[in-house]
Amino acid sequence: MATNTDWLNRSLKAVWHPCTQMKWHDSGALPLVPVARGQGAWLYDFEGRRYLDAIGSWWVNLFGHANPRINAAIRDQLDRLEHVILAGFTHAPVVELSERLSALTSGALGHCFYASDGSSAVEIALKMSSHYWRNQDQPEKNQFLCLTGSYHGETLGTLGVGDVELYKEAYGPLMRHAITVPSPDARQAADGETAVDVAHRAAAGLEAVLVEHHASVAALIVEPLVQGAGGMVMYDPEYLRLARALCDRYQVHLIADEIMAGFGRTGTLFAHEQAGIRPDFLCLSKGLTSGYLPLSVALTTGTVYASFYDDAVTRGFLHSHSFTGNPLACRAALATLDIFAEDNVVARNQKFAERFNQMLQPLAQHPRSQHFRRRGMIWAVDIATGLSDFRLRFYREALAREIFLRPLGTTVYFMPPYILDDDEAALLAERAVAALDAALA
Ligand SMILES: *Cc1c(COP(=O)(O)O)cnc(C)c1O
Repeated sequence: MATNTDWLNRSLKAVWHPCTQMKWHDSGALPLVPVARGQGAWLYDFEGRRYLDAIGSWWVNLFGHANPRINAAIRDQLDRLEHVILAGFTHAPVVELSERLSALTSGALGHCFYASDGSSAVEIALKMSSHYWRNQDQPEKNQFLCLTGSYHGETLGTLGVGDVELYKEAYGPLMRHAITVPSPDARQAADGETAVDVAHRAAAGLEAVLVEHHASVAALIVEPLVQGAGGMVMYDPEYLRLARALCDRYQVHLIADEIMAGFGRTGTLFAHEQAGIRPDFLCLSKGLTSGYLPLSVALTTGTVYASFYDDAVTRGFLHSHSFTGNPLACRAALATLDIFAEDNVVARNQKFAERFNQMLQPLAQHPRSQHFRRRGMIWAVDIATGLSDFRLRFYREALAREIFLRPLGTTVYFMPPYILDDDEAALLAERAVAALDAALA
């Protein structure tokens, strides 16, 4: 029987792993973990070791691995129709999913355009927004605004609306850069200030840019409430209300990239709900299929849709992906929505989050912890350390304690699947502190 080492060595020869300096795998600085199977919150290797998947396999998994209800839905679909072209053809799962997603926005975003990954959904929103203005005889409105520290994917188009230094340095020459506006990062609050004050200040910065550039700007793109890859930066919903009002005043679309924040992650089904607003575009992926299959969607309004509706092909939206609206992925998404409805997930998460927050207090109060923060089912804390390899040290120490956590720089964060029981949660909280102490030692 093949062992961990066999798979590891073969993988290192043949697989170029994402977001990875491959040399670190070879040197052992970053251990590669071969996974044989997953069950619930746990991943198992080929030798019986287990790891608690505390970041939902890169923010995608909501209801655990090998979830019986999602498995059953995919199996059922497999015997009916695995895939069909979505240009000129349609099928039940994509129709039902579109109807249900639209209903979840109370019909405000009634038109669903599909792709297979988050970045593509963002690109769809960007293209649609700019094409909308073109259809409105305002083709000069084709620039974008994004927040400092934002992340919207890693294709060339989405890197252009991102603000992660590492990528800008390597791929900057290939990008068409958006204008960055201040992030409402609540950590910027000075003594006596609240997150709402920071939101107002950031909105003033947005307005200053809009005053000058609105005539050439198509849209502002934001990660509502939590900027993920930028370091789990959290901010007050007030910013979204202010940004919505400014976008309306200056005739600029608001794109909500909820690829990470959507599906209950921030405490409501969609993050923008907490601000009582609706975006013009809503991008979803990751949790959409509960992390089962690649699927993404950009939802938009009847107004946007109507501007493309015409006899001329050039006024239509010009975009397609081979696997657009894949039926198996749509069934996984429908099963995911069923679980939300049947299990009252958002309310259950709220109770869990309060308990887990208590369990994380030793970490919050650790002498090296700064800015411990939570929004819904996301926890993050910045670790004060001068260790340049803190991220790798923590990662290794966590794995050695059966927990899978993957810090962003010196920010340790938790994005657990929604099915953790209290014993698993307690184990996670306890071992995270032990891993931290070991990493800092
Ligand atoms: C992950 C992510 C993306 C990109 O999604 P991919 O499926 O990795 O292309 C875009 N925006 C946000 C906010 C994300 O977290």
